[in-house]
Amino acid sequence: MKLRESNIRKLDQGVYDVLIVGGGINGAVSAAALSGKGARVALIDQRDFAGFTSQQSSNLAWGGIKYLESHDYGLVRKLCLSRNHLIRSYPSRVREIRFLSTIEKGFRFHPWFLWAGTWVYWLFGNGFTRIPRLLFKPTIRREEPAIAIENAAGGFEYSDAYLGDNDSRFVFQFVRSAMDRGCIAANYVESLGARRDGDLWIARARDVIDGKTFEIRAKVLINAAGPFVDEHNRRTGEQTEHHHLFSKGIHLIVPQITPNPRILAFFADDGRLFFVIPMGARTCIGTTDSRVESPFTEVTDEDRRFVLDNINKRLKLPRPLTRSDIIAERCGVRPLVVKAKAEGNIRDWMQLSRKHEIDVNRGRAHLSIFGGKLTDCLNVGDEVAGIVSELGVDLPYPRYKWYGEPHPSVLEEYRHQAQLMNLDSYTFPGAMESLTSRLWRRYDEKALRLLEDIREDPRQAEVLIEGTEYRRCEIALATRQEMIVKLEDFLRRRSKIALVVRREDIRTAPGLMEACEILFGEQAREKFDEYFQDRPMARLVAGAEEVEHFETG
Ligand SMILES: Cc1cc2nc3c(=O)[nH]c(=O)nc-3n(C[C@H](O)[C@H](O)[C@H](O)COP(=O)(O)OP(=O)(O)OC[C@H]3O[C@@H](n4cnc5c(N)ncnc54)[C@H](O)[C@@H]3O)c2cc1C
Repeated sequence: MKLRESNIRKLDQGVYDVLIVGGGINGAVSAAALSGKGARVALIDQRDFAGFTSQQSSNLAWGGIKYLESHDYGLVRKLCLSRNHLIRSYPSRVREIRFLSTIEKGFRFHPWFLWAGTWVYWLFGNGFTRIPRLLFKPTIRREEPAIAIENAAGGFEYSDAYLGDNDSRFVFQFVRSAMDRGCIAANYVESLGARRDGDLWIARARDVIDGKTFEIRAKVLINAAGPFVDEHNRRTGEQTEHHHLFSKGIHLIVPQITPNPRILAFFADDGRLFFVIPMGARTCIGTTDSRVESPFTEVTDEDRRFVLDNINKRLKLPRPLTRSDIIAERCGVRPLVVKAKAEGNIRDWMQLSRKHEIDVNRGRAHLSIFGGKLTDCLNVGDEVAGIVSELGVDLPYPRYKWYGEPHPSVLEEYRHQAQLMNLDSYTFPGAMESLTSRLWRRYDEKALRLLEDIREDPRQAEVLIEGTEYRRCEIALATRQEMIVKLEDFLRRRSKIALVVRREDIRTAPGLMEACEILFGEQAREKFDEYFQDRPMARLVAGAEEVEHFETG
């Protein structure tokens, strides 16, 4: 039986210590921390894991340098330390990266002042990263010719960190680690609400795929529904001190702008920071920050124009980027936490804090997680475990380290085996990293199993979907371990193929149907058609032919 079906059967059996609603970053780390420490945990998500906000981020683990301007020093200090903790815990997945920031003449701050700010930022992070540098125009020109420096006053460089895979895979790895420690997790299962009955929560759940409903019983209920926290609280009759407001942000993915592995940072026309972020052979540009009322958003023409105009103004490209250069788009809302009482008095949208808050109803053993960032995820996991323990749930392994890559000796053994079988002879010429490090980054200790598969049958090391890096053995592993229900789960979240390859190229890629057969068996054709029928990007690309360029001059 497949993992998901088997887990769904288990969900209505017995009493769980904790039921977590929502498998974005907040739900995923809560599940990983609690299961690692020995609690009996159930986790459900109405969509795929990380299928909402947590797949739309800028992929940064960062201290939030921009919050220095709003004097949110406590938050910056905390986020810098969280970033360091992530880099230390996940050396192959979360890596330090340099940010090269160019400041235009007449900007509200002089580059020297901002450079001084980067030293404060560096100190807030205990000097964990490389030191900042002040840059004059000739150095910027020499080191990053893609930047238009005619109007620049100067610049500086500092460090933060970057998620080497995409955000949604990072989240899924916490879900997987929770499942490895006994958590019963299922995607595409919606909570319809929950009632308190004596000492228990009874949640009504619906399998979104076949429509069947069932009940899940748990001592503690954690509402980690991201932008839907308030809605789920309404469904369960929970009152909270905090609520969410929504800030929309978009990213556009375009062909590679610069081969240098660094982020270019600029201040957009509206004065806000925006980035040019490397994404393998592509570049991700964004983001925007505008208040919206609904969590359901899409990229508008105005958003695209804003990002493209700003980027074209600040870069010196062979030709300006246009809509037809867009390979994929990302769009989501940041759930921002506010006190219920303050909601009507928000004067400055940008001053809203990006911290997280956990509201606890001790009488009803209920937690609501508001706000937060990917960067702060390890703290959220620890904090949630602490609260659940205070609520009386026995955590038999309170000191268990539930996060982090395996012990270095496992990596050493993996590298040794990879070397002995000459794994890197399968690395593409010109690839950005060796196959040995790619497989470790994506699968850590499970990569040892991949080596075994390749030793048994060298065809397992062949690329299955042409134009991507995915090997036959990876698809087989994903089928067993990664709860892929729809083709989009694989193309957009477990991998980032849908972000870096144009939709039409994916559709015609030799090997995709074979990959579907491995992933879905008899349902391969149905899943393939389902994915390509729902075609927002195809509409966009088709639209690009009708619409004339709207880049700035
Ligand atoms: C444009 C943008 C850029 C960002 N950049 C960064 C960045 O670079 N670094 C950083 O640290 N942070 C960044 N963030 C913030 C970060 O992405 C979010 O704070 C974080 O992903 C929120 O996670 P979450 O788990 O709270 O919500 P979500 O990821 O939305 O997860 C909530 C889940 O709950 C599920 N759910 C909802 N209702 C139900 C129900 N009734 N039953 C079952 N499941 C339900 C949803 O399907 C969803 O998957 C960014 C955010 C945006 C929008």
